[in-house]
Amino acid sequence: MTLEIRNVTKAFGGFQALDGVRLSVPLDSLFGLIGPNGAGKSTLFSVISGFLSADQGEITLGGRRIDGLSAPARARAGMVRTFQVPREFSHLTVRENLMAAAPAQTGEGLFGLFFRPGTVRREEAAIAARVEETIALLKLTRVADQPSGKLSGGQKKLLELGRALMVEPRLILLDEPFAGVNPVLIGEIMERIAELNGRGIGFLVIEHDLEALTRLVSRMAVMDRGRVLAEGEPAAVLDEPQVREAYLGG
Ligand code: ADP
Ligand code: MG
Repeated sequence: MTLEIRNVTKAFGGFQALDGVRLSVPLDSLFGLIGPNGAGKSTLFSVISGFLSADQGEITLGGRRIDGLSAPARARAGMVRTFQVPREFSHLTVRENLMAAAPAQTGEGLFGLFFRPGTVRREEAAIAARVEETIALLKLTRVADQPSGKLSGGQKKLLELGRALMVEPRLILLDEPFAGVNPVLIGEIMERIAELNGRGIGFLVIEHDLEALTRLVSRMAVMDRGRVLAEGEPAAVLDEPQVREAYLGG
């Protein structure tokens, strides 16, 4: 089972941010995505997750075409993203943020509220249990009732991961999970990611910290100027001449 990206293009005005991207990511893998600033990495995440629509190309998830679906529909299909700049609701607590990230439930419609109150209560209990599980898994117990705007940068990254986990995804797209995070917490976030991967959740990770990323992932792709330059095992990929050139700005 894979996420397949075929010939995806995206232009902003006259600027070609994605220029025929092709990539195949196994759904249960730890897969890295690197490249110089402006290479198109975050734009690719937006196009994959449905926050932006591609101009051309095709995206399939486990064999199913998803490029026509909305972002929430793609999340329900099993794929969610986090943002380079965390988008938590800062006035809500950690626990409330996780609650709010659960996918739309029966009870959110009037129909559910009036005609299926039992179902609604069962769903709420299931969500609450999942929230507590996620808090424990990410070791956020101590800050669970704090307004999330008061969290450290690293804790906000963990909360982003937690919000993604609330939709029970098969594949999570992480945009720079280690940026602005202290080394100790980077180690912890990596452990959590590896643990989740052991439970069968795949990760596609954009990261500038190459040292940390190469320890985490088994494969990576390199983007430059809207294209995938190379793909394979981290050591081999980093050794390719055109990759070195892109990084040296050559
Ligand atoms: P990366 O994440 O690899 O650093 P981005 O995908 O954020 O790169 O950006 C790729 C290029 O597209 C950059 O030159 C950026 O300025 C441009 N870009 C990204 N988003 C927009 C947008 N919404 N409107 C116009 N240009 C954009
Ligand atoms: Mg980016």
